[in-house]
Amino acid sequence: DMSGLRYGKVCILSDADADPPARIAGGSVLLEGEELVGRPEKFLRSVRGARIAMVFQDPFSSLNPTMTLGEQIAEPIRLHKGLGRSAAKQEVLRLLHAVRIPSPETRFRQYPHEVSGGQRQRVMIAIAFACNPALLIADEPTTALDVTVQAQVLGLMADLQKSTGTGILLITHDFGVVAQVCDRVLVMYAGQIVESGTTEQIFRAPRHPYTQGLLASLPRADAKKTDRLPSMSGQAPSVTQLPPGCPFYERCPHAMPQICPTREPESFETEPGHTVRCYLYDPSVNLPLKKEA
Ligand code: SF4
Repeated sequence: DMSGLRYGKVCILSDADADPPARIAGGSVLLEGEELVGRPEKFLRSVRGARIAMVFQDPFSSLNPTMTLGEQIAEPIRLHKGLGRSAAKQEVLRLLHAVRIPSPETRFRQYPHEVSGGQRQRVMIAIAFACNPALLIADEPTTALDVTVQAQVLGLMADLQKSTGTGILLITHDFGVVAQVCDRVLVMYAGQIVESGTTEQIFRAPRHPYTQGLLASLPRADAKKTDRLPSMSGQAPSVTQLPPGCPFYERCPHAMPQICPTREPESFETEPGHTVRCYLYDPSVNLPLKKEA
């Protein structure tokens, strides 16, 4: 259930050497109703790995090449649950079984280079679920895997989500992945959420011109071989130099020069649970200015 999670506004400072290189400029991040913004680092350290876990794109660089897979899964269990060596091993074997890795006893003693990319990502998922987190953040978790393994790993994550109740925040560029596993979608452009809704709402009735452009550029099963895919021209502005108005203005086929570049649009609800950050859905904007979206 992601309903309790709201998002802070992150400002990336232009000075790459600044410490820290990013800061939270506003907003709120709630985890199970608890505010995280402004909490001391010591508290946030206790949240990371325990109540919030992460899985990254490349499992090989995320795993320690000098430790066995079993040791790496056992580490967070011993750290956060305080289990002894033998109890931790039993828990590791249970997790290896849960992520559908065959021969768990053998894998327990193996090193990352001895198993396939798909198996490594399953190990990362086992590490992530080791402490029963409230939230798992998965950043492009299947991009490095081939299509068949990708489908298996996504199916595994969806099953674990259902059996454990852990919320999964999946970051992806792939609408096929979204369609396969997501309940709700947040479409981001230039660091902002420009549209949010259920997966069904976003696919059935995309409202923001950026979402519409993204979906129009996907290949369709009924397309002819000679059909050219529409593409969006231009590039997203740098998040360190956002223009004063709508960040999509330069690329938008529905842009209204009288309004859109002047100030940032707010979010407007187009149907229950479906919000869009675009002046086309602002009831106070005169209809004659709006080109049909
Ligand atoms: Fe396009 Fe204006 Fe909507 Fe931005 S606010 S997406 S420029 S119509």
